[in-house]
Amino acid sequence: MKHLAIIPGDGIGKEVTEVGLAVLDAVSEISSFDYDGELFDIGSDRYLRTGELLTDEDIDDLRKKDAIYFGAIGDPRVKPGVLEQGVLLRMRAVFDQYINLRPVTSWFPLVPLKREVPFDIHFIRENTEDFYMGAGGRFGPGDGTSRLKVKRELYELDVELNVEAEPADEFAFEIGFLSRKGIDRFADYAFRYAAARGDDKVTLVDKANVCTHVYGMQREIFEAKAEEHGMGLEFMFVDAMAMAMIVRPETFGTVAVPNLFGDILTDLGAQLQGGLGMGGSGNINPQGVSMFEPIHGSAPDIAGQGKANPIAAILAAQMLLENQGYPEEGMMLREAVRYCLDHGKTTRDLGGNLNTEQAGRAVVEHVLNRKK
Ligand code: ATP
Repeated sequence: MKHLAIIPGDGIGKEVTEVGLAVLDAVSEISSFDYDGELFDIGSDRYLRTGELLTDEDIDDLRKKDAIYFGAIGDPRVKPGVLEQGVLLRMRAVFDQYINLRPVTSWFPLVPLKREVPFDIHFIRENTEDFYMGAGGRFGPGDGTSRLKVKRELYELDVELNVEAEPADEFAFEIGFLSRKGIDRFADYAFRYAAARGDDKVTLVDKANVCTHVYGMQREIFEAKAEEHGMGLEFMFVDAMAMAMIVRPETFGTVAVPNLFGDILTDLGAQLQGGLGMGGSGNINPQGVSMFEPIHGSAPDIAGQGKANPIAAILAAQMLLENQGYPEEGMMLREAVRYCLDHGKTTRDLGGNLNTEQAGRAVVEHVLNRKK
């Protein structure tokens, strides 16, 4: 029995999570997978009511769960960034979810490529370091000495800067920071993941020809780890990777990518596979509590209208199943999604005429039909 935390959140998050749960119920009817789900009221409604984002009590309760199934967060009534930082980013930090997993699959005919070639790229994005640590500053005239402090699970940064800037010399900077501990666990995860899905190599994306310090060290550590895991390793510069994803996506399997470039390439991947409605993602701590969510946000423009495509949330449920040790059950969901696409049983954004609930029911029916 798996104990899941369910956080529907805001906007279409609520609608697609409901479908995701119906699909998990169907899976549990026909397989050995079983779960209980506890609903958490986290998101804009509670924030506007009580001022609470993610409380210590929430965190204690979530920590007891096997995994978190998440909808989306975001609300036009709340200043941009408040919910994202107070809920999503805090959760990633508290549970040290240091891997962001994003599969990019060829969901034809939604793929905007001219040729139909099957691809299945799995992006493993490092989620805690690189240029996304908020480590930086902006200096104007007479700022003098400044202290830069960053505290993370793995280390603390404490840098003193002496700045005497003239008005014309104003500057700002952002530090890209990688630690040996951070790269070690990132590389271990990538090689283990690649081996588990039957790939013989990992592609590491970087810009080691320009950012020689951070990505030079990362390459060295990945090389040692490749040997340790008995796996192949290929390097790609991020600019070349962006082109290669369009020209020859079928040549990639497991792709490890640092935080900033990962943000960009996975959005390219989202469009490559057929849009925001077609992708799931996982924020993973292999030793802790991981969280699975659709790649889209709360889409307030279509919320509450039954227009949301639930497939991304279903694919997030598929990833949750795989992560929790139910790969065959996960595969059932992928097959069901494929079947519904092939038979036009989809929402309007994919050319069908179903509403969110009906599109979900089509997937549920396909899953349940396996029993007959
Ligand atoms: P947020 O601030 O929460 O990220 P957003 O509207 O800025 O919300 P998304 O929710 O990611 O960003 O979506 C952008 C647009 O894509 C939406 O306005 C919506 O029209 C469309 N969209 C997103 N997800 C879906 C979906 N599951 N089904 C149909 N359309 C979607």
